Amino acid sequence: MDKNQILKEFSSDPDKYYNVKLFQEQGFVRKSCSKCGRFFWTLDSNRTLCPDDGTDTYSFIGEPPTTKRFDYTQAWKQVEEFFVKNNHTSVSRYPVVCRWRDDLYFTIASIVDFQRIMGSKVVFEFPANPLVVPQTCLRFKDLENVGVTGRHFSSFCMIGQHSVPNNQGYWKDECVDLDYRLLTDQFGIKKEEVVFVEDVWAGGGSFGPSLEYFVRGLELGNAVFTEFQGELGQHTTLDQRVIDMGAGLERFAWITMGTPTAYDCCFGPINEKLFNKIGIDSDSEILRKYFTEIAKEIDNYDDLNQVRRLAIKNAGITDSQLTKMITPMEGMYLIADHLRTLIFAITDGALPSNVGGGYNLRMMLRRINATVSKLNLKLDIDDLIDTHIDYLKDTYPELDEKREDVKQILKIESARYEESKVHMKKKAEKIREKGTPTVDELITFYESDGITPEYLKEVDAISEVPSSFYSKLSDLHQSEKKKAITELPLEKLPETETLFYKDDPMEFEAKVIKVFDDQVVLDKTSFYARGGGQEPDHGSIAGFEVVDVDKHADIIVHKLKGGTPNEGDTVQCKVDATRRSNITKNHTSTHIINTSARSVLGSWVWQHSAFKDDDHARLDITHHSSLNDEQVKQIEDAANKMIKDNYPVKIEYFDRGTAEQQYGFRIYQGGVVPVKSVRIVSIEDKDIEACGGTHVKKTGDIELIKITKTKRIQDGVVRLEFVSGPNAFEYVKEQEEESKKKEQQAIEKQQLEKQREENKDKAREKIPVFIEKILAGESLDSEEINSKGKLCFTSSKNYDDYFNQNFGKKLVAKDDTAAFCGIFEAGPTIRVMIFAGEKSGVNAGEIAKEIASILGGSGGGDAKFAQGGGKDTSKKDEAIQKAKSMILG
Ligand SMILES: [Zn+2]
Ligand SMILES: [Zn+2]
Repeated sequence: MDKNQILKEFSSDPDKYYNVKLFQEQGFVRKSCSKCGRFFWTLDSNRTLCPDDGTDTYSFIGEPPTTKRFDYTQAWKQVEEFFVKNNHTSVSRYPVVCRWRDDLYFTIASIVDFQRIMGSKVVFEFPANPLVVPQTCLRFKDLENVGVTGRHFSSFCMIGQHSVPNNQGYWKDECVDLDYRLLTDQFGIKKEEVVFVEDVWAGGGSFGPSLEYFVRGLELGNAVFTEFQGELGQHTTLDQRVIDMGAGLERFAWITMGTPTAYDCCFGPINEKLFNKIGIDSDSEILRKYFTEIAKEIDNYDDLNQVRRLAIKNAGITDSQLTKMITPMEGMYLIADHLRTLIFAITDGALPSNVGGGYNLRMMLRRINATVSKLNLKLDIDDLIDTHIDYLKDTYPELDEKREDVKQILKIESARYEESKVHMKKKAEKIREKGTPTVDELITFYESDGITPEYLKEVDAISEVPSSFYSKLSDLHQSEKKKAITELPLEKLPETETLFYKDDPMEFEAKVIKVFDDQVVLDKTSFYARGGGQEPDHGSIAGFEVVDVDKHADIIVHKLKGGTPNEGDTVQCKVDATRRSNITKNHTSTHIINTSARSVLGSWVWQHSAFKDDDHARLDITHHSSLNDEQVKQIEDAANKMIKDNYPVKIEYFDRGTAEQQYGFRIYQGGVVPVKSVRIVSIEDKDIEACGGTHVKKTGDIELIKITKTKRIQDGVVRLEFVSGPNAFEYVKEQEEESKKKEQQAIEKQQLEKQREENKDKAREKIPVFIEKILAGESLDSEEINSKGKLCFTSSKNYDDYFNQNFGKKLVAKDDTAAFCGIFEAGPTIRVMIFAGEKSGVNAGEIAKEIASILGGSGGGDAKFAQGGGKDTSKKDEAIQKAKSMILG
């Protein structure tokens, strides 16, 4: 939809779309900007320019238009007080991780809190009407502006004022009247300072007029009146019109404080801490000039560096002021901003990773680390986290509870970054040599080595980050979610009655509604269809085997083997009760392991995905590192404790809004629930999830859970494989047998070892006996020893290093015409050792060299003593023959 077209249409009939009661009462005049033509409403009859083009733009810096001063937390108190006084419910913020929508990773606006997707439609669910909410919103698209422009944040507080016009809520007139009084009465801004600009909003198939309100060129808020749907011209009024007023809390604080940047009044005491640490030589007059210039120029240029250069020139900043003041300040603001965003995100259960939204968090922490090293700072991040949370906890008490978790995650992640630096540097050098990589190559570097394009740019391996990188990366991750569903012509069929949600009989009678090849639709069924990671039931329908069951919208389709009944038949159906019972136990076990893992590991543990079959199951959780044996044992113990405590597993249906308000967004472990009535499965207050699966009545029914294997399957995700019920006992039995077998093997090995030692001892005893016989001139020819005169040889397996060494040494010491050569195995090598008496005529070194070369190794020594060896055992016999012939002739 073309926004300009809609704006033209609406502005051509201002009385209908924009002229609210306040404008008439107060005497606002409607003007068209003499520069850009946009329409705006003002009390100042001399004003000719819209706020964007006005001469007063950003003149509040150094000279605020209010008599009262409010910092970030005080500003919210003012806003809240005003709206509550005017019959609004003040609602706590929703998580920044948007668990209730699968098309968004993060909450990007306050209205998102109340949007639920039903099919292709967006519906609104408000917990109160009217309401106001301090919604923390995360936005990452202007990351390079953060810290530099004075007003861009990676997360900010959107004051959401929302109303549905009915007997409780209100519409345009009252909305604008409230916003105007908030500025003038509550914040003390002069009436003439407030300018409303006509605009429109369009998105998600609906649209409506909006009034943006400005003070001194700073847009404080935008009141959107969502009232139409369809294409302009053929549009109709929505059943549910909605007031969507969003205002930046940071800007409310800024306008009352008039500080050089919004950062100065919104981060609390962390600024001063960082100022002192960095030792910035701050001069408010120079900063005022500089940031006013930045604010004025930022919208005129695409290139931020150009804006910066211009501001430096116009504000008369010297090189020394730039390096001693501006650059460190930008870094300081960046650190404060990014850290604040990480605190919110980790508190709400997100983890830095390479996957999905976690990517942005990792990127931010790496930007903090890079800034710290660039400015050569020594910062105590834990202390900075404390400072932030202490300042924010009044408005957001939940941050206080997760303080230690945030510290732990950031510590692990920073250490990981340090470790990966060496590897990344090497890889970057290779990339630099090879020349500019393609976008696909960049994606591979990122996914396999965790090397971000920002890093490559930082080290000059690439000149810029290709604009298509992030969209392509997110497309890749998005498409993984989609699942191919075979289309069946099911349109006219009635919804299948789901008996498994009722009495759940294992045997029942049903009518065949439709047959497609081997697939059958019944009027009702107790066969659970594949869904939520739970595998389908098996069994029989009219004597035919049921091999698969799938759900297509509200219709359940059974796949049969060996034939099908006829349409219209009434058939006997039988669910395989043992299989179902095993799957059910595994499903409840998934919930139990999930909550056990969270209690053992930390609050960041969420179900990533799950799979439950009858003989095995797995649960993938979000966690930063591989699990060690101790952690696995603790999780298993905690899970079995829950079984032992035999808690009832309760299933209740709730209105979705009620469930969310009552239990929070933890219920969405298995993802978004696209229905108004939510099935809540709860195990006391230990685990509460929205879930459509089958469950045991009491945790004790599971009897036993055994975790069989764990593995870190991707960055930020750990898989736990497990078995429960009879399969767990079977597993324990197998484990016991296995360990018995191993024990037996160990005993046998030990005995063998002992036998070998004994043989060796016996062999050693033979040394003096053999020597005596040889020196006596006896000729020996046996496995144990061969001799010819006083030359002798052995390759017996019973002799080790010790035997060969001692035998040879003693023999030649007693008779210098004697010589000895022994071949024996030592570990993986075959060794040869030769002792030759001076008058024996044998050259020890030559034999060692020759034999070693046969064995593929090396040998060395002199004519009297030499040794060598090699690992080529296939040449053992050849080596023995050769050695024997070399010494005995
Ligand atoms: Zn203008
Ligand atoms: Zn479940």
